[in-house]
Amino acid sequence: MSDSQYIRQRDNTTEHGQTRDLSYPPLPEALTVGVYDNHAHLEIADGSNPLDYREHLDRASAVGIRGVIQVGGDLETSRWSAEMAAREPRLLAAVAIHPNEAPNYEAAGTLDAALAEIDELASRPRVRAIGETGLDFFRTDEGGRAAQFRSFEAHIGIAKKHDLAMQIHDRDAHGDVIATLLRVGAPERTVFHCFSGDAEMARLCVDHGWYLSFAGTVTFKNAGGLREALAAIPRDRILIETDAPFLTPTPFRGRPNSPYLIPHTLRAMAEHLGTDVSMLAAQVSSNTELVYGSWDAEPVDRPL
Ligand SMILES: [Zn+2]
Repeated sequence: MSDSQYIRQRDNTTEHGQTRDLSYPPLPEALTVGVYDNHAHLEIADGSNPLDYREHLDRASAVGIRGVIQVGGDLETSRWSAEMAAREPRLLAAVAIHPNEAPNYEAAGTLDAALAEIDELASRPRVRAIGETGLDFFRTDEGGRAAQFRSFEAHIGIAKKHDLAMQIHDRDAHGDVIATLLRVGAPERTVFHCFSGDAEMARLCVDHGWYLSFAGTVTFKNAGGLREALAAIPRDRILIETDAPFLTPTPFRGRPNSPYLIPHTLRAMAEHLGTDVSMLAAQVSSNTELVYGSWDAEPVDRPL
């Protein structure tokens, strides 16, 4: 167990079997006004020279990234996220069983035990969100969906019980995610991680008081609909994230992602909105602190 290192390894081939460019992109020009990364998986090693979480955070600090939400997707990564946030001032944690993992736990007969442990982790210091949870009809077929719904509803309950924010994973399941939130009652601070809907859905989310977090996908050439969604909502609903090591922004699409690459996404968003980068950064930082609270509280564990 190396808790200062990564605990997962990314598959380094593309879906079509070609190899990716496995080098980390260079550091972008630093931001004048910093932002937070709403969603990253720093436990996953990627690239030819993997960075450990402190290297990710040091590079992020160097370009003005103020902090990161480290997100778990199963028990092992959720425990790791809570432990790292407890000792690293630049991290807060989110814990959950990912919608694509829920059917596996259910099949093994361990979903209830797993949900009970997420409930326990939710009470740890510097765990500020339940996530990522939600629905994924892209990777999970009919057979696994009952477990996804059950797990999603349980996570909504855990977030409300602990008064934590919630990070939604919604892939090809917009209608059912929204219907579930409305039926069960969404937590007070609900964030769509890597928002992937259109302008109409964005307006609907905002009408319900939810936040939308934009990832590197908003910089992609074919993502006109996503940029329309960005422009359709009030600025006080916008968050930003990497989903590192995935979804690297233009012009480095396909290479390993890291929180230090957020400036590319932020600058593209500001340009599309026709606004000043620093003004947008200040707004997004303020939004992020409203959702998760402050990163400043002292970590509870000794550094390694
Ligand atoms: Zn994620």
